[in-house]
Amino acid sequence: MYEKMTQIINKKKHVIIYTVDIHGSEKLYKALFKISLLENANSIVIGGDILPKYSTDDLIEVQKKFIRTKLIQMFKKFKKENPSVTVYLMMGNDDFKVNMTLLEDGARKGYFKLLDMKVHKLNNQFNICGYSHVPPLPFLMKDWQKHDTKKTRGLSDECDEKFRELIICKDEQRKKLEKEYLLLLSELGYTRHIHHYTVEGLLSAEKNDETTIEDNLKSLAKKSNPKKTIFVIHAPPWNTNLDMVYPDGSHIGSKAVREFIEREQPMLTLHGHAHESYEITGQFKEVVGKTVSINPGSEYNKDKLNAVIFDVYNLKCMNNIKLEDTMKGIFTTCLNCMDGRVQLPVIQWIKENYSTDYVDMITDAGMDGVLAGENHKDIKSILKKIDISLKRPNLHLNIIFVAGHHDCLGNPVDDETHKRQISIAAEKLKNLRPSAQIIGLWVSDEWKVEKITEK
Ligand SMILES: [Zn+2]
Ligand SMILES: [Zn+2]
Repeated sequence: MYEKMTQIINKKKHVIIYTVDIHGSEKLYKALFKISLLENANSIVIGGDILPKYSTDDLIEVQKKFIRTKLIQMFKKFKKENPSVTVYLMMGNDDFKVNMTLLEDGARKGYFKLLDMKVHKLNNQFNICGYSHVPPLPFLMKDWQKHDTKKTRGLSDECDEKFRELIICKDEQRKKLEKEYLLLLSELGYTRHIHHYTVEGLLSAEKNDETTIEDNLKSLAKKSNPKKTIFVIHAPPWNTNLDMVYPDGSHIGSKAVREFIEREQPMLTLHGHAHESYEITGQFKEVVGKTVSINPGSEYNKDKLNAVIFDVYNLKCMNNIKLEDTMKGIFTTCLNCMDGRVQLPVIQWIKENYSTDYVDMITDAGMDGVLAGENHKDIKSILKKIDISLKRPNLHLNIIFVAGHHDCLGNPVDDETHKRQISIAAEKLKNLRPSAQIIGLWVSDEWKVEKITEK
């Protein structure tokens, strides 16, 4: 069950919703947008592995299409509806780098900001930056894989060499080479299991890059004071509560990331990559010295959104959520005329403009006039219905719409009077239910809906 973080009473406030390893689940993206509205988030942060992942030969094309037709459109719409919320995201090791230009295009258009190796101002006090690369693993893609530290370098070079052999080997050699590869990996301390698709894996596109994760993090730390910076690093720190995987609880995190945290003591680090770590350890948080590190885990394949919600000014209080509830839909309330012609246009307009799935419709003949008090009708029963709608636990956006329309039989006044009454009604409702946002809508002679007031 999801609970709102209402108890934070801070003067300064910057609410962040952090999630990771969504792997292209549209349901999870939608849940993320909803939760950010419910929590009045200032920023949404997504720590990598953002595109679909499944076994197919043309995964590059699948991901390209997803960015073009889904991801960009979703964030464009979200930005339009919520211009004050900033989205920060980056690729993870399961997102093909070759499609980066499409993401850069979305960033240029202002739909989101890209994190990998970049520093952004979160507000005038804090910065945020990111890092996508992970240490060597027996996974399908090698795009975002790098040697971890100088110490592990020689060994992981050997590992890579063995992997290369594996990919091009003849069938009878495979078993032997797999064993050798595994042995090298386990010597690195990362994992003792091999995935069946390893042998069809792809080699990195940037093998001539000589830097290590250690080097990259050092240069990132120079760009922004770690004490005032949130580091979003896809790989979790090695040998912690945050980097364990099935089936044997191996640690797959990065040694360089761990050393970086111990050395620089950043204010906060956000991770992912080890989807099941939270499930295994029961911990989404690890405190190393003064640094809080987070990995909310991922259950994207079960349609669950794992996220952590916190106020940057109060890191002691963090809310770790698993979201199934919002999948059931988000509601708003509308006070509308009973006229059959205005129901669908109003519902459609609200759904399109306010990320809502369902509109609780409370109707009366000439509702705007009734609420404005023009016909001295008692509005007690209307208020009772409003409260029933608002009390939907955690699923209501806390927005009430008041609509009036042209050619109204229940309230036969001219258009200008209607609009005046809608404003009066909105004002009155704001006084009666001050915590809700009230929005006045006008439906024209062509059944076009427009917003005329907001309280
Ligand atoms: Zn992932
Ligand atoms: Zn990952």
